[in-house]
Amino acid sequence: MKKSIVHAGMVTFFAAVLSLGAFWLALTIMGSSMDTFTIIMFILVPLLVAFPVSAYNHRQKRKIAKAHEALTAAHKELAAMHRRLAEKARHDDMTGLLNRAAFIDAVEEKCAQDSPGAFLLVDADNFKKINDMFGHLTGDEALRKIARGLEMALRKDDLKGRLGGEEFGVFISGATLEQASAIAERTRHAVEMIRFVPGDHGSARLTVSIGVAVAKKGAEFCELMDEADKRLYEAKSRGRNLVVMPASGSVAA
Ligand code: GH3
Ligand code: MG
Ligand code: MG
Repeated sequence: MKKSIVHAGMVTFFAAVLSLGAFWLALTIMGSSMDTFTIIMFILVPLLVAFPVSAYNHRQKRKIAKAHEALTAAHKELAAMHRRLAEKARHDDMTGLLNRAAFIDAVEEKCAQDSPGAFLLVDADNFKKINDMFGHLTGDEALRKIARGLEMALRKDDLKGRLGGEEFGVFISGATLEQASAIAERTRHAVEMIRFVPGDHGSARLTVSIGVAVAKKGAEFCELMDEADKRLYEAKSRGRNLVVMPASGSVAA
């Protein structure tokens, strides 16, 4: 308010000086002179018109500037919220790992790069029994434990996703067959070491079987999945809690 009044005062002063000056110049050119009434009018009119108009105008400008600031802040907040929501939409609610669609997208993006890596298809063993023995909610808790086990065994940058049900996917960028073998074994072992004690019902053993596929540049997810799934099936039929690697040289193109 104070700023608006000061601003209006200055505008009014210059308007009065200008109008008086212009009229004085016009009269001087025409050879006339100003009387007191004219002088008063040329000061009073700008005072009555310019002051309120300028004060109002200045106040409106400040209001618009403040509204603009608030709008910019709201826009920033909305953009941050949008980023958080988009991030949430990429994750599986229960385990916090990437969801199937986000995992597949991320793997295909990595496969398009120079040295793609290795895909691990990780499936919880005899999970139906866990549900049957302890109930579905405890089964959910076991799935969260397995997800934490994967996170413990792998690096932050490795892609980890829940592909559905009790099935998880891992993609290790740039991994060779030997590296993939060591990482898959470490992952299997990490789950095996999980201590899972559901309520008063005693402890349950959590294990996973893992089928591995190594990707060449440009490999499609469905090819990797197909290969890894065959090896997962083999791991299951050989007794579970096992990693089955590709025969050396077997690489998904
Ligand atoms: P296998 O070792 O051959 O993989 O046996 P399995 O029992 O793990 O496999 P199967 O496909 O027979 O059963 C999978 C079970 O996983 C059955 C299903 O109810 C359970 N399951 C899938 N999704 C969830 C989930 O979100 N929560 C819980 N608690 N159980 C789930
Ligand atoms: Mg299973
Ligand atoms: Mg399964």
